[in-house]
Amino acid sequence: MTSIAANLQAVTARIAAAARAAGRDPDEVRLLAVSKTWPASDVRAAADAGQLAFGENYVQEGAAKAEALADGGLEWHFIGPLQSNKTRVVATHFDWVHSIEREKIARRLSEQRDAHRPPLQVCIQVNVSGEASKSGIAPDELAALADAVAALPQLRLRGLMCIPEPTPDAALQRERFGLLRRLRDELIARGHALDTLSMGMSEDLEAAIAEGSTLVRVGSAIFGARARKTGMESTPA
Ligand SMILES: *Cc1c(COP(=O)(O)O)cnc(C)c1O
Repeated sequence: MTSIAANLQAVTARIAAAARAAGRDPDEVRLLAVSKTWPASDVRAAADAGQLAFGENYVQEGAAKAEALADGGLEWHFIGPLQSNKTRVVATHFDWVHSIEREKIARRLSEQRDAHRPPLQVCIQVNVSGEASKSGIAPDELAALADAVAALPQLRLRGLMCIPEPTPDAALQRERFGLLRRLRDELIARGHALDTLSMGMSEDLEAAIAEGSTLVRVGSAIFGARARKTGMESTPA
């Protein structure tokens, strides 16, 4: 077994244990393998081990891998910061976008998504960490953005995503993820049909699953530690 296959098994076991500890069915939690900075050959190794959904942060890098592996039946999720001059590449090469935080970007993605293809599946990224984070829409602006995104024809609003500030404090992790869950519940009460809470990464997936995550985004625990510079917040896509 390759180390990627072994890591996938270990992460899957962590997810299942966390789900059971929370009284949840492990099948409610999907694993998104975050392959940013890793070559297409590593994606293929994960795919050979049965992993089909992959997350990428950088537009060109992700599009190149999606093209190189176009025959694989893989599902591509864009999870990084997105500028308006890159929306067309994302609308063309990806199936999901988790990082919607502005109406203008959503509008462009909808316009640029081929009308003959299924709509882009999207999540709105919410800032659940206040001043400790720069990305994501503020909770008090979320409802208006959700209404606008849900009205766009070539997007389908599936849920919410967050990247809380890294912290070893499990109670604080739970608090951040719990806020995203409550915001999701408020949108459902407002009439939005949402089934996705994209939250939890290598270091905090247990807390996220305890708070209702339906999709954890895991990179380093599967592919290994990334080189330092490839942080997720600072580098524009
Ligand atoms: C890099 C990244 C991940 C995965 O992080 P790991 O700590 O390597 O598991 C998840 N989500 C986003 C948005 C990322 O940029």
